[in-house]
Amino acid sequence: MSPSFDPAAARADVLARIERAARAAGRSPADVTLVAVSKQQPWERIEPILAAGQRVFGENRVQEAMGRWEGRAEGLELRLIGPLQTNKAREAVAFFDVIETLDREKLARVLADEMARQGRTPRLYVQVNTGEEPQKAGVAPAEADAFIETCRKTYGFAIEGLMCIPPAGEPPGPHFALLAKIADGNGLAGLSMGMSDDFETAIRFGATSVRVGSALFGAREAPPGP
Ligand SMILES: *Cc1c(COP(=O)(O)O)cnc(C)c1O
Repeated sequence: MSPSFDPAAARADVLARIERAARAAGRSPADVTLVAVSKQQPWERIEPILAAGQRVFGENRVQEAMGRWEGRAEGLELRLIGPLQTNKAREAVAFFDVIETLDREKLARVLADEMARQGRTPRLYVQVNTGEEPQKAGVAPAEADAFIETCRKTYGFAIEGLMCIPPAGEPPGPHFALLAKIADGNGLAGLSMGMSDDFETAIRFGATSVRVGSALFGAREAPPGP
């Protein structure tokens, strides 16, 4: 990344692109939330984005997020967008405002217990593995309806929406369309889909939040540890 990279200017540009994409789709730009994905970014790049008014951030690891945001999270909305292990559920419920990666019953059960214990109710999204990739988290599309029903009936969750990460190297449109169809069939309004390379397409397919990292902050540092 060039030393002159300006995250605040990048944010203004991304917001302008969100606005154009929303208007082109006949939607209100206010209906699309920009989630700034701050994982693996140094504080020098995050600070200008915060100063520019960004309040919603996404992180994919519980520990890393706590290290970055603890003591700085006042007035912010922090979203977990990475896979959640049940042994991190306690910290995730305590720390995040939104958990976007609910994808299995065991996790639902542990989250329900933690939410009851802590008296906190983070907003929840179900992650759908639209490309049915074995290495990727998320419930299979064919199992999504039943899983959403279990979340609602058995665990009493008010699911806010669905989240997906389309396979790399495939056109994302069909994956966004599939996620939107599953959401519609289940009366879910929230659609977390679209990243730096495809957020405008996602908005065309109805995204209500887009998760943008490198287009805002520049390329990420190497992931911590193996
Ligand atoms: C890292 C990440 C993003 C952001 O990716 P960019 O291509 O840098 O915008 C979005 N969503 C999830 C789930 C991620 O892990």
